[in-house]
Amino acid sequence: MKQQKTGIVIAAHGRHYLADVDGSHVQCVTRGKKTNVAVGDIVDVTFTSPDQAVIDKIQERKTLLYRSDQYKSKLLAANVTQLFIVVATEPSFSDDLVSRATVAAEAAGIAVRLVLNKVDVADNLAQARTRLQVYAAMGYPVHEVSAKSRPDAAVAELAPLLDGQSTILIGQSGMGKSSLINLLVPDADIATREISAKLDTGKHTTTFTRLYHLSGGASVIDSPGFQEFGLYHLSEGMLERAFRDFKPYLGGCKYYNCRHLAEPQCAILDAVGAGKIAPMRHELYGQLLHESSQTLY
Ligand code: GDP
Ligand code: ZN
Repeated sequence: MKQQKTGIVIAAHGRHYLADVDGSHVQCVTRGKKTNVAVGDIVDVTFTSPDQAVIDKIQERKTLLYRSDQYKSKLLAANVTQLFIVVATEPSFSDDLVSRATVAAEAAGIAVRLVLNKVDVADNLAQARTRLQVYAAMGYPVHEVSAKSRPDAAVAELAPLLDGQSTILIGQSGMGKSSLINLLVPDADIATREISAKLDTGKHTTTFTRLYHLSGGASVIDSPGFQEFGLYHLSEGMLERAFRDFKPYLGGCKYYNCRHLAEPQCAILDAVGAGKIAPMRHELYGQLLHESSQTLY
């Protein structure tokens, strides 16, 4: 009888997966042409050779994040418990991307923390803080660090937050996400090279999502580039509930099926008018409603 075991998917590239099974890295493929496996998935595999296996079953997921792919949602990561959004004083970060990330996390039931890196760049600090105030007011913690000038303080601030969690870090290019990963994950570079070689993608690329194990069962997922999160799977009802700042006002609209766009006596529009909801957030909501109505499945 062939040997069946359980592992966790630590890297994905197309249909090629690498799973950690009892501490060793095993090349995995899906049956048929399926690409329904995500990094972080717990999988049952059947070995076809000592270091190769076929994925038979994906165990039930606690959470699932999607990434965007031109009006389609693909899987980004499974079983994540918290999202760190890395922004910086410079280059300037995109409110649109940060907000989309908060919406994706809320919809998936994942906690969010914002990490403001490069606080040593004094020129833009005040402005960055002001812009992050919108998120702090919604209850998202904001952590100020400098990976470069105060690495020990950055580790002291962030490392305890990783305990017992599966954390995904995302950030636009240049924010310092790699610098932070290298501080938080010992030997991240070596692990990446090893994983790249074992993924057997043909080219030794580093542009794949990967999961690093930390001691004590915690894990960190690094995803290349800024993941534009896929939000097309959300219904209108899910979308409005994924805006944390809308929550106090939902149910207060005159019409039960209010879409909060131009309806009379809309509690959300009133809150925008009263300065309780940032106009940028309401605009994004409208944009996402529009995008989901454009979706061709
Ligand atoms: P990534 O693209 O988000 O992975 O960003 P990197 O980690 O590659 O960092 C981008 C650039 O910002 C590099 O030149 C880093 O040396 C620099 N950098 C990272 N952290 C800091 C910081 O805290 N302060 C300053 N001044 N520069 C930083
Ligand atoms: Zn309304």
